[in-house]
Amino acid sequence: MDFEPNETQTLIQRTARDYAERVIKPQAAALDRDETFPFEILKGLADLGLMGVNIPASLGGAEAGVVSYSLAMSEIARACASTAVTMAVTNMVAEVIARFGTTEQRETYVPRLTSGEYAAGAFALSEPEAGSDPGSMRTTAERTSDGWILRGQKQWITSGAHAGVLVVWARTGGTGTKGISCFLVEAGTPGMKAGKHEDKLGLRASNTVPLTFDDCKVPHSALFGGENEGFKIAMMALDGGRIGIASQAIGIATAALEEATEYARQRKQFGKSIGEFQAIQWMIADSKTELDASRMLALRAASLKESGKPFSSEAAMAKLYASEAANRICNRVVQIHGGYGYVRDFPAERHLRDVRVTTIYEGTSEIQRTVIARSALK
Ligand SMILES: Cc1cc2nc3c(=O)[nH]c(=O)nc-3n(C[C@H](O)[C@H](O)[C@H](O)COP(=O)(O)OP(=O)(O)OC[C@H]3O[C@@H](n4cnc5c(N)ncnc54)[C@H](O)[C@@H]3O)c2cc1C
Repeated sequence: MDFEPNETQTLIQRTARDYAERVIKPQAAALDRDETFPFEILKGLADLGLMGVNIPASLGGAEAGVVSYSLAMSEIARACASTAVTMAVTNMVAEVIARFGTTEQRETYVPRLTSGEYAAGAFALSEPEAGSDPGSMRTTAERTSDGWILRGQKQWITSGAHAGVLVVWARTGGTGTKGISCFLVEAGTPGMKAGKHEDKLGLRASNTVPLTFDDCKVPHSALFGGENEGFKIAMMALDGGRIGIASQAIGIATAALEEATEYARQRKQFGKSIGEFQAIQWMIADSKTELDASRMLALRAASLKESGKPFSSEAAMAKLYASEAANRICNRVVQIHGGYGYVRDFPAERHLRDVRVTTIYEGTSEIQRTVIARSALK
């Protein structure tokens, strides 16, 4: 088994790392503090091909595969987790349209996402009463002679106020997971309204909003992936999305651990650097081991997806393990910094706030365990 990235993967990783170090990292603390949506940074990501890493070149993507995507995502998250989640959702939306859209839908929307013409894409599945259980969604789409009318509410939609195109799930038939379809809704469509930006613990430079659909009319051509076929599409998209979130968690934890290691070298107590105390060494050793295990799980899931093999359970394992390990690591990193870990002078507290959501979105840890156990027991 070869763990070395190939030439393309190395190039994408270096490109992402260079942009992250040079442009994103110096702004990350201010973006977080001021809750600034990073429009210019996102355009820069698109210019580098990072808004469509696993998208065919014919649609404006980098066509560099899933492993490259995972590596790039970790590099961006290492600098700014808010930028990373915006990139993750945009890549996911571009991929889902590229895979399930009609030729017209693909050629219309994917290049606008990959080129940065659209600042972002959005994935509108969750609702106020339907989070872990999206099959219980209440948003409806009614067919009329000239299109569909969407009515209902979505919740927690990343980039919902800034996305050029949103993939929106709505009920078109019976109950449960059957009878759900998905629609491509362009920004500014009358009847679709973004609510108040959520005041979040972390990822404060990402945009998270509720969306209201009040007799929102879309043409027949907005239906996407087949009538009543939407739930399967959501689940397949989330399988891939989980590789992205695992990679995001890895990036945040990598930054945190690097900073803690440096701090442990510099900080002196009892006449020696705190890195000489075994208690600190063990925290670093455990964190490094868990981080490497996370990377291997994420790269395995990415590699399976890239080679067209089943990867759902492996993506869930990667997301479960990497997000929980990253939370442990970021918590230890605050501990290693002592009181300085608790104030904004150091990035440790931001990493801890940012990483917290990784065990919640794109399926909570409890839902990942359900996916893994279902596959093991079937
Ligand atoms: C910052 C942020 C960004 C987000 N971005 C998006 C987005 O872009 N698009 C989108 O569609 N959604 C998005 N989400 C929503 C996210 O995916 C949901 O929050 C998540 O799926 C959990 O749903 P919930 O919040 O309704 O919690 P609930 O489903 O109500 O869960 C509450 C608790 O119950 C547990 N639980 C629920 N069901 C079970 C079960 N069967 N077995 C065991 N435990 C269970 C959960 O694990 C959790 O601990 C985002 C959320 C956040 C916080």
